[in-house]
Parts: sequence; structure tokens; C-alpha cells
Amino acid sequence: MTDNSQQVLAWKTHTISYNIGYDKLKDSKNWSSNFYFVVGADPQLGYNTSFQDREPTDWQEEMNRSITAVEKINALTPRPQFVVICGDLVNAMPNKEEKLNELQVKDFKKVYSKLHPSISLVCVCGNHDVGDVPDKQSITKYRSEFGHDYFSFWCGGVLFLVLNSQYYKMNKVEEMAKEQEQWLKEQLTKHKGQRIILFQHIPWFLKDINEEDQYFNINKQLRKEMIEKFFEAGVTHIFYGHCHRNYRVFYKDLEMITTNAIGNPLGNEPPGLRIVKVYQNNMTHTYFPFEKLPSFVNV
Ligand SMILES: [Zn+2]
Repeated sequence: MTDNSQQVLAWKTHTISYNIGYDKLKDSKNWSSNFYFVVGADPQLGYNTSFQDREPTDWQEEMNRSITAVEKINALTPRPQFVVICGDLVNAMPNKEEKLNELQVKDFKKVYSKLHPSISLVCVCGNHDVGDVPDKQSITKYRSEFGHDYFSFWCGGVLFLVLNSQYYKMNKVEEMAKEQEQWLKEQLTKHKGQRIILFQHIPWFLKDINEEDQYFNINKQLRKEMIEKFFEAGVTHIFYGHCHRNYRVFYKDLEMITTNAIGNPLGNEPPGLRIVKVYQNNMTHTYFPFEKLPSFVNV
């Protein structure tokens, strides 16, 4: 299977009319100059159901946080190359609460289509977007709304790979999971030694590669096998969501970064975004609560 980025371009241009897609991206296999991008996670419209007087169709609070995120991103100078949302775009799962999912997806698009036309939006699927146990229908539904669930694109000499991490948890779609694996193998083989950065929703591990399996990580045996593969291929960073907290861990010099939620954080840090600056030989990243996000980014 080949690079899916063109399919994604077609969808972005079509579905999110305010979002031009990849044509403004430094869409190049070659390094030209420093650039930066923005990472957000878990806007999860509909997550917060703790208010007694809240209707099931009321997710205005989460929408307001996403609206703030979009306004803050649009105010950045210079503009980022792209914004990636590391999964759980909405809360209702397509194979559990189909109607709510549709309403939330509609609102997600309404808010994020307001991103400035020169800023590309890269969507990563989370467990809430394809279901905790995805089936063929829920994956197909996601693809029809957001484009492919795994794909690659180049930006400024860096290869970015977007994965559907639900294929590594539970699923009823073995064939689809195998297709991603085959595609990933081809990407890592073909581009071994290049600068590669991954985006996925669920972290391989949170603190220790030997930690026990749980909701917030991926099976220990698989995790070790995959991380070693990524390291061998030259992957330098993996960005995650899912935890609604910030974490930073390493495997050898492969760095893994979990970004706090845009919608509802579970730790002490307020909702916000991460700015990632890419230099010729290294990369830096900083998480900012919305109110502390700088308007000028020095790269
Ligand atoms: Zn999640």
C-alpha cells in the first residue's frame, strides 16, 4: 500500500472547507528551514457529563475550549505548518451512540473549520472516534468523516506517520489491523534512517516500558516489540493523547510525549496546546495552558 497523504488532502479540502489541507504545507522531503507545529489532544466534545442539569446533547463547555484553542492558534505569528489533534476528537463512540457521535462530529468540524486557511489540520483517531472495540462499520464511518485512519505526510524534511492505535488494543477488524501493519512496515523499511515522527492516540507506555498492561497503555509484549522497531527505523519522537495529562518518557533516545486534553484535563494542568519547534538537527517542545500561549513563536 502506498502513501495515503493524497487521499487525506482530497478529504480535507472537501470536508473542512476552511482548511486548505496540505498544499500550503512545507510538503517536502528536503530540509529547507526551521519550522514549528502545534499538538493538541482530546477535545472530546461530550466528555463532561457530570452536570446534573446538562442535556445529553449539550457539550458547549468542551466546544468553548476548542473554540479558544482555534482562536489561540489563529493568533500565532508566524503561522504553524500544521496542527495535529492526537485523538478523541469527540466523546460518543460511533458503534455505541451513533446519533450523538454524528452531532458531535458535526460540531467538531464546525469549530475546527475556523482554523486559518493556511493551517492544515491533521486528525488522529482515538478510541472514542472509532470505538473501544472498533468494527468494520465504525472504522468505515470514521474514514468517511475524517479520511484515512492511518497515513503519512512529509513536512520540511521530516516524515510524519499517523497510526490508528486501536488496532493494537481490542478490535474486531483483524484484516484492517494487518493492512496498517503492512503499510507501517513498508514505511519504516523504505524510509529507515530518515527523520521520522509518529502520532497516535494511546501511549505504548506511560512511565516504564515494563509497566503492567492497563487502560492507558498497550500490551507489554507488543509494546516492546514495536518500540524497538521504531527505534531501529530512526523514529525520534512519538506524540500521544488519551491520558488527559502531560507525560514525557524515553526509550533509549526515542522520546515519547503525551499532551494534556483540550477538553477536560484529569491532572492539575489547565487545558492547552503544545508547540513543537523543528530545527535542522533537533527538536524542542513546550506545553502551554491557553492563557500562557505566546502569540509570537521564535523559530
Ligand atoms: Zn482516549
